Amino acid sequence: MPFPNEAELLAKVPTQLYIGGEWVDGENEPFAVLDPATGEELARVANATPAQGKAALDAAVEVKDEWARTTPRHRAELLRKAFDRVIELRDEFALLMTIEMGKPLPEAQGEVTYGAEFIRWFAEQAPRIIGRYGSTPEGNARMLVSKQPVGPCFLITPWNFPLAMATRKIAPALAAGNTCVVKPASLTPLTTLYFVKILEEVGVPKGVVNLVTTRDTAGVSDVIMEDDRLRKVSFTGSTPVGVNLMKKAAEKVLRTSMELGGNAPFVVFEDADLDKAVDGVILAKFRNIGQACTAANRVFVQKSVADEFAKRVAARVADFKMGRGTEDGVVIGPLVEAKAVEKVAEMVEDAKSKGADVVIGGNKGAGEGYFYEATVLNNVGLESQVVKEEIFGPVLPIIPFETEEEAVELANASEYGLMSYVFTENFSRGQRMMDRIEAGMMGLNVGVLSNAAAPFGGVKMSGVGKEGSFEGIEEYMYTKYTAVPDPYSDQ
Ligand code: NAD
Repeated sequence: MPFPNEAELLAKVPTQLYIGGEWVDGENEPFAVLDPATGEELARVANATPAQGKAALDAAVEVKDEWARTTPRHRAELLRKAFDRVIELRDEFALLMTIEMGKPLPEAQGEVTYGAEFIRWFAEQAPRIIGRYGSTPEGNARMLVSKQPVGPCFLITPWNFPLAMATRKIAPALAAGNTCVVKPASLTPLTTLYFVKILEEVGVPKGVVNLVTTRDTAGVSDVIMEDDRLRKVSFTGSTPVGVNLMKKAAEKVLRTSMELGGNAPFVVFEDADLDKAVDGVILAKFRNIGQACTAANRVFVQKSVADEFAKRVAARVADFKMGRGTEDGVVIGPLVEAKAVEKVAEMVEDAKSKGADVVIGGNKGAGEGYFYEATVLNNVGLESQVVKEEIFGPVLPIIPFETEEEAVELANASEYGLMSYVFTENFSRGQRMMDRIEAGMMGLNVGVLSNAAAPFGGVKMSGVGKEGSFEGIEEYMYTKYTAVPDPYSDQ
């Protein structure tokens, strides 16, 4: 199949709201989606009002009982068809992500595979929803424990993984028998719009999935969150917005899943295989141009190998090509928007002013688009912004340390606890780190570990709940206990 043409692809992507199975215009003025590599407009997308947000929830509520009563096999088959279709359209989805978000095409293709795997995984989990049956200890009754769909869900996704963050929520919600309202990020709505079109095409009934795009995020979100009929909110995004949503969720005692920000430590011991550690950090830092919640944010390297490690990383970075993600060989695409470049530049200047050495990079890209060079900083001070905050850009700060104890302390000195990475050839040390680093996930001698079959999620200010794996579908069900008389009690 020839690679898709951008204009033809964009012409196929819906730009309206999807409510109750109908594509409808937004009642606010449409907003532009820009190509971050050029700043040019790709599409204009519907801008929902709060009343349209409520209409989307109305639609989800209307069909909730009907959808909950469908058989697990039926739901599984629909999801499986959606999986097949996304894989068939892999190049289209990849190109769409690259042009609206900026990641290089091979990475976007990787995200299509990763994102689609959530659909297949949860298609496979739907028929495996089971309960328990047993006697009370006293033998006076029998206990039936069943799993019920939690109810209408509000699913809010970020811009950095436009397909995977949507499938990771929509697929388990549907598999468990729930209807939903999806709100993608306004910077990158096109991929999710195209995915929802695929769900429509494969036969997901009207009202089961509703999609609203809006610039009035707070207005639309508040109306949905304050509605008594909503039962669950699943959010992936920044910690401050997540905290806000949790406060609102508390008012209605909603079930919540929160996948929030990270500040991953990447710890390299002197007994590590340094080449493996360099490969690992290149992946963990520069994938998605550093714009991942799992990105290595603080690279702690044992002092005896820190300069050598910095040198080897810089040698790799020197070969990175920067450009539009559609060009061959590009590793560093644009950041998502102009203000992201300003923020990264400010952080690098701050680190320099606090004594960091620039090993390579350290500049904004020249010309059009929102580019920042791949950058390696060494001897970074602990008070620097790059250490304290999520960088969300291609900047790799190296902080030397002396002892294992110090490495643990440094790794845990963050309010976040999402991802962590440790490189050591000493397996006992690796296991000690596994126990002691406060994070929901750890890569032990690996730089990328996301997988649909793995439980993804953080602790501390990085969130609550898990996505993917067996836990992922549990987030969309509640456990019901039913008592029945013991069958021998009336004999
Ligand atoms: P963001 O918090 O700005 O936005 C995320 C989503 O929330 C978007 O759809 C946005 O429109 C919406 N939103 C914004 N304000 C809202 C409000 N008041 N009410 C309801 N919704 C609102 O985050 P972002 O910039 O899109 O994404 C980057 C952040 O996401 C980073 O912090 C990153 O670490 C985090 N992230 C976490 C994970 C994870 O799994 N833990 C995965 C990817 C990204």
